[in-house]
Amino acid sequence: MLSNLKPQAPDSILKLIEEFKTDTRQGKIDLGVGVYKDPQGVTPVMRAVKAAEQRIWETQTTKAYTGLAGEPEYRNAMAGMVLKDVPGDRLASLATVGGTGAIRQALELARLANPEVTVYVSNPTWPNHLSIMKFMGLPFVEYRYFDAETRGVDFDGLKADIAKAGKGDIVLLHGCCHNPTGANLSMAQWEEVAAILETSGAIPLIDLAYQGFGDGLEEDAAATRMIAARLPEVLIAASCSKNFGIYRERTGILFALAEDTAARDLAQGSMAFLNRQNYSFPPDHGARIVSTILSDDALRADWASELEEVRNTMLGLRSQLASELRDLSGSDRFDFIGQHRGMFSRLGATPEQVQKLKSDAAIYMVGDSRLNIAGLNRDTVPVLARAIIDAGI
Ligand code: PMP
Repeated sequence: MLSNLKPQAPDSILKLIEEFKTDTRQGKIDLGVGVYKDPQGVTPVMRAVKAAEQRIWETQTTKAYTGLAGEPEYRNAMAGMVLKDVPGDRLASLATVGGTGAIRQALELARLANPEVTVYVSNPTWPNHLSIMKFMGLPFVEYRYFDAETRGVDFDGLKADIAKAGKGDIVLLHGCCHNPTGANLSMAQWEEVAAILETSGAIPLIDLAYQGFGDGLEEDAAATRMIAARLPEVLIAASCSKNFGIYRERTGILFALAEDTAARDLAQGSMAFLNRQNYSFPPDHGARIVSTILSDDALRADWASELEEVRNTMLGLRSQLASELRDLSGSDRFDFIGQHRGMFSRLGATPEQVQKLKSDAAIYMVGDSRLNIAGLNRDTVPVLARAIIDAGI
């Protein structure tokens, strides 16, 4: 039986990690994989996470199963963090295996509710969105997103394309810090998106994987909160991997905002059912770290300030890179790097130029020219800027 299996195409980013590891050149720079790295190149365990783990170790008396949907403490704490004003009588929630698990369960839920569902997804988007939908056999349509000329959002294209989504279709939106482009909608543009969805009855699925990495914890959730306040039905898939730095703990959550309490109860039941079919109980350790931090004033303040340091480090690197490139190119054509938000920016380079950066300068980025800003530090920014100019980008 097993010999009938076909080889699966390797994940392009994981392949890049392997290539980087075997490169023996001094001073090589990894801008590929999507994890935060501090200026020393370390992905640290945050102080509040360590403290919460210690507290859990000291006080936890059982490892018995939790609820199918996860612990209410975690789900309530996350609802507060993401939505602030929580419409409790309309909100269903589900602890999931990372943000990826939340997206998978959201798509499963959409298909359970509407077997004819089509998903509208930005072009480009995080490649896992596409690969999960292909694997599920879920029909999807790409909407225009990135303007290759300005490296900003092609908002007219976006509006025209998402307006084609019909009642009961899903429009997948990145709540902040778009991956892979780094280009984001303004609040006024988000309002226009909400108006289009209000008219069509298509349902937004907001992927919120970088709350706190863009303009701040509150600012990054503002679009999600506005959509949740305006629309009758909203799905939100949030990840704690980046903002709590607990990537390997696999901590995420799916929220389903329903039209009324009866629909909320139906959604809650189906969501728990979906966990049961996949893995029964969701992982607890990361969720418990998160609820411990969010429910303790001192831990929460310490976590928020460390997250703010992370965010400001990335912003500093962005403006340093934009300014080096302004000097070297004698133009403002790289200013978009300072305007983009989150961990990533799409440079807009050709695959040949990306290859040249790798072969000539040992600088690794994803083939579509997505670079991880957090892979840089103050010393490597000038090296990258020089290499970008030398590669003719
Ligand atoms: N959505 C996007 C856009 C992402 O970039 C990521 C992480 N790379 C996720 C969701 C989910 O992350 P995780 O499963 O690690 O929580």
